[in-house]
Parts: sequence; C-alpha cells; structure tokens
Amino acid sequence: MSYLVFARKWRPQSFEEVLSQDHVTITLKNAIDTERIGHAYLLTGPRGVGKTTTARILAKALNCENGPTSTPCQKCDSCRSITAGNHMDVREIDGASNRGIDQIRDLREKARYATASGKYKIYIIDEVHMLTKEAFNALLKILEEPPESVVFIFATTQPRKIPDTILSRCQRFDFRRIPVSDMSEYLKKEAASEGITLDSTALSLVCRASGGSMRDALSLMDQLVSFSGNDIRGEEVATLFGMVKTDLLADITSGILAGNTARAIDHVSGALAEGYSVDELLDALIVFLRNLLLVTAGASNSLSDVPESESRLLLKLSEDLPDIAVLNILRILSSAAVEVKRSSLPRVTLETAVMTASKLSRAFSIKDLPPVADKVVERNSQTTTTTREASPEKEIAADSSQEGKEQPSVEIAENSEPIEDTAISAEDEEDDSVANEDDEEKEKETSRTILGLFDAV
Ligand SMILES: [Zn+2]
Repeated sequence: MSYLVFARKWRPQSFEEVLSQDHVTITLKNAIDTERIGHAYLLTGPRGVGKTTTARILAKALNCENGPTSTPCQKCDSCRSITAGNHMDVREIDGASNRGIDQIRDLREKARYATASGKYKIYIIDEVHMLTKEAFNALLKILEEPPESVVFIFATTQPRKIPDTILSRCQRFDFRRIPVSDMSEYLKKEAASEGITLDSTALSLVCRASGGSMRDALSLMDQLVSFSGNDIRGEEVATLFGMVKTDLLADITSGILAGNTARAIDHVSGALAEGYSVDELLDALIVFLRNLLLVTAGASNSLSDVPESESRLLLKLSEDLPDIAVLNILRILSSAAVEVKRSSLPRVTLETAVMTASKLSRAFSIKDLPPVADKVVERNSQTTTTTREASPEKEIAADSSQEGKEQPSVEIAENSEPIEDTAISAEDEEDDSVANEDDEEKEKETSRTILGLFDAV
C-alpha cells in the first residue's frame, strides 16, 4: 500500500469519530434522523478542526444507499466512492481557485441536472469566502430557488467575509479549536495503533505547536516519524521545531528573578549562540513567564498544554515568588517584543529588557528585607557596598558583617551584585539615600564608620 500521511490515514469517516465537535455532529445527526435536511450548510471555524471532514461525512450520510442516515454504512458503493473522493454526485470545489462568476454560473447549470446515482447532488465549497462579489451573486440565485435534490456545504475560516444574503440562507455550524487534552489523548491512541510511542513532553509540545489544529498536529507527527522513527522524545520535538529548550528559559528566568543580571545575560548569549533568533527567544521567554505567572497566581489548571517537566520547573521557580514580580517582568519583556520588531539592533533591545527586569527583581527584594540587614561595609576597598537581597546566603553575608567580621570581597561579589558601589564622602552623608527612616541611628553609625575609614587613609 502506498504511503499515506496521517491526516488522510486517520481522517474520521463517521460523525462519532469527529473529535471535539459534538455540538455540530449531534445536531447534524438529529437533523438527518428526523429528515430535516437543509439546502445549504455553512461550516465555520479555524483551519484543521474538521470542517471539510464533516462536510464529507454529511455527504456520505445523505447519499449512503441505506440513507439518508446518521450512521452511513461505509460499505456501499456510494459510501466507498465518497471516502475515495470520486463520487459522481459529490463535488468538492476550492473557493480560492474557482472564485469567479464563470465557475459559479457553470456550477449553476450543472446543478439543474438530475443526480447520477445518489439521492443528493452535493457541492462542497471550501474557503467559500474567497468568491468574488459577482460569484456570490450568482450563488445567491441558486440558493434562492435551489433544485430539490441539491445540497451546498460551504466551509470557511472567515465567515465575516460572506455576504449576509448568503449567510441568512445557510444553517451555520461553528467549529471550535480542539482542546489540548482531547488532541493529546487522540494522538496517543492513534500513534499507539501504529506502533509509535511519544513521551509526555513530546505529546505536549506537538499539541502546543499545532495551535488546536488537528491537521497541523498530524503533519507535525509525519515530520517527527521521519526525523526520529517510531520512538519520539521531547528533546527531538524541540530540536526539530526549533523550540527554545525549557531549561534555558528557566535559567534566564531564575537569573532575572535573583536579580543576577550577569547570569541572566550570559544565558541569553548562550541561547543566541545556539542559533535561536532574538524573536524566538523573546517569544518563548514570554510564554514561559506567562506560565510562571499562572502558577504563582494559583491558576495552574490553565496550564493544560505544559509538559510535566516544565510544570516541575515552574513550581520550583514559583516558590515564595510574588506574582506581581512576575507580572512586571512579563510587562517589560512584552513591550520589548514589540520594540524588537522595529529595532535595527534587536539583541540590544532584548538585553536591555533582561537587565531592566533583573534590576526590578532586585528592587522587589529590597522591600522584603528586614531593615537591619541591609548594609555591608567592605573595608578593603573603602567603599560602601549595600546588599539588599532577600535570599538566605546574602542575608547571612550581611548579618555576619554586622557582627564585625570581615567579608572577603570576592565572596560578596559572587553572592550579590550591589545596586551600586558608592564611595561615600563626607559631603554625601546628608544625601545618603536609605529608604528606611526608622533606621536612622544605624545609618549614622555606618556613616561614622565610613568617615573613620577615610580618616585612616
Ligand atoms: Zn453506505
């Protein structure tokens, strides 16, 4: 047997097999069972969610030798020829390439003839919104007085482009995007029947990349099987589709959250060196932060398309993290994403945004710190280094310095990046900006220490 792509091989052949569109298929089945068959149906919705497939099943249901029936037999000549796409009375027309008035006039002429073998003459017009105004007018003439046994099934992704006069003569059915959970379950089952296994990360990534379109998901599956055989793993999916690795995103994010600008920028450089574009990296980072925001806000249920491995990372990052901090970082990166598109130096825009975001994280830590633990006097260099970090090791550094122990300058530099290293002179004493006024006495003491240091020089 010749090679068939999954989208064709796994195409649903009955109403029951159409995934996640019960609101459409149940209504159609009831209409057929009660013999309330219309002359024109309009199937709308995003691409790849089952519109054309449903149109073919409807054609089959109407023309089955045992029909009209909501459960076409799949065995009679009529059913089999519709499945094969060569039924004499079922014509599929691509609206995009047959959009002119002449094609529709021709269709109108032929629609008058009696059926060749079936009960109904069925015209499936795909992408019907592409028809010209004149073609729509010609179509309207047929819809106004349709021949007895003619049924039109229109499919479109853009119903707004269809004239109201046509819309009002159609029964309209709106298809939905396929939910990730349904798609994931379906892909797993169908793949297993072919001896193909996907790990949970691979499955989640395919569903996410498909954007709710089953046709896209199946095309991705075809590509994946060609790329990695019958055993498909998450890393291979990420590589093949050029997705930014989650670990990398987590590294950049944790650098930003720790206020460690250098670490965050290093990871950004690493990602760019791996070949990701600034756009790709920024978009992936925004999606990752959006997921982190949902976790910190306690809305983890909305993370249906996130692989388990990523969920674990997100949970770990979200520990003791205020959602407002993530929200602000997300805002900075989102506006950078807009800027990047019109910037001649997109990398600089990205780096600036990452730096700003990590400085902001640092600012958030300031408020969380107890006021007494916010100063370190670095004696060696005769400068005041102010650490205002929330993380435990940095607090320890600050505490121990207050006990009079000297901090090796290297250790301080490693543990924290000071907001600024300021050599404070006597004139600056009055301007010394320390937010907490309750700590005034402490501040004076520090100033005296600094002045003392200057005297010693
Ligand atoms: Zn049949």
